Amino acid sequence: MAYQPADNRYDDMIYRRVGNSGLKLPAISLGLWHNFGDDKPLSTQRSIIHRAFDRGVTHFDLANNYGPPAGSAETNFGRILREDLKNHRDELIISSKAGWDMWPGPYGFGGSRKYLVSSLDQSLTRLGLDYVDIFYHHRPDPDTPLEETMYALRDIVASGKALYVGISSYGPELTAEAAEFMAEEGCPLLIHQPSYSIINRWVEEPGDDGENLLQSAANNGLGVIAFSPLAQGLLTDKYLDGIPEGSRASQGKSLSEGMLNVNNIDMVRKLNDIAQERGQSLAQMALAWVLREQGEYGADTVTSALIGASSVEQLDNSLDSLNNLEFSDAELEAIDEISHD
Ligand code: NDP
Repeated sequence: MAYQPADNRYDDMIYRRVGNSGLKLPAISLGLWHNFGDDKPLSTQRSIIHRAFDRGVTHFDLANNYGPPAGSAETNFGRILREDLKNHRDELIISSKAGWDMWPGPYGFGGSRKYLVSSLDQSLTRLGLDYVDIFYHHRPDPDTPLEETMYALRDIVASGKALYVGISSYGPELTAEAAEFMAEEGCPLLIHQPSYSIINRWVEEPGDDGENLLQSAANNGLGVIAFSPLAQGLLTDKYLDGIPEGSRASQGKSLSEGMLNVNNIDMVRKLNDIAQERGQSLAQMALAWVLREQGEYGADTVTSALIGASSVEQLDNSLDSLNNLEFSDAELEAIDEISHD
């Protein structure tokens, strides 16, 4: 039977304004880095996307190289869009990126105009779209002048192939430089996509001029969407009793077994105890923590937590984090103490 989105899909989701822009994103967005390549059944992918949309997740994050094989996540998502969501395009924020290795030769990675423009064209073809909502430069490229990358992003917006542009994994100084440049060009950067979780706090560490990434983004009007807020699954209860078959760690991919060492599992166990006292799963607490208000950076420090999910059950569990985003000072201190060990 044809998919019919839930009528109440906007009832419970929290939407947060992205930096100084007029755009809002759901507090939890879904990323398609893992679990949406040709190695996963399309039926499972479809169920996860449907459930996400049914629960108000309007933002789906992709990149040219997501798969495997690279590109297949865009192709698979494009098919689901075409078959199930084509009447809902204007309810969706779809992003893609270029920066990491995509095709052989000198023009298939980096930050050159040549690479960014041709990669976005390829992504649009795979997605079956005329435009993406957000296009990112996926990582800083020291071999390309910042101006070239930023001019390319500006011109991509002017061409209508992306509505907004952003950057990912840029440090605080480079973020400020890029943002100032784009503001002068009349094409403000919308958003920064850094990694951020209870156990990965680089965005809170001061850069050379003393400003950290969260400050740099806030001062320059950028929103922040935090990727891998569950540390790829480590900040959940799934590894407390070993490595489950089929899990990301069992596949020896981006989450190495080395990350599951005795010290880390001991830390996760202690964090899990705090989560249970809060009446949450550890995944829920880890997401609430990323989304917590951090007064010094203005309201909605992190606009959205960008999660992955390999099942509808995981997605549901993670989305339920929005039922409790409040922390007592004592809880925050205990989390700091455990995670800084
Ligand atoms: P997470 O930290 O959310 O990890 C997701 C994994 O955690 C899932 O695949 C699953 O593991 C496990 N999991 C998720 N929810 C639960 C739950 N409720 N209970 C138990 N286990 C759970 O994020 P990802 O690392 O997947 O990254 C999310 C997105 O961020 C990507 O899809 C991508 O869009 C973006 N990203 C961007 C990068 C960049 O450079 N800009 C780099 C990396 C990611 P399992 O599969 O084992 O079941």
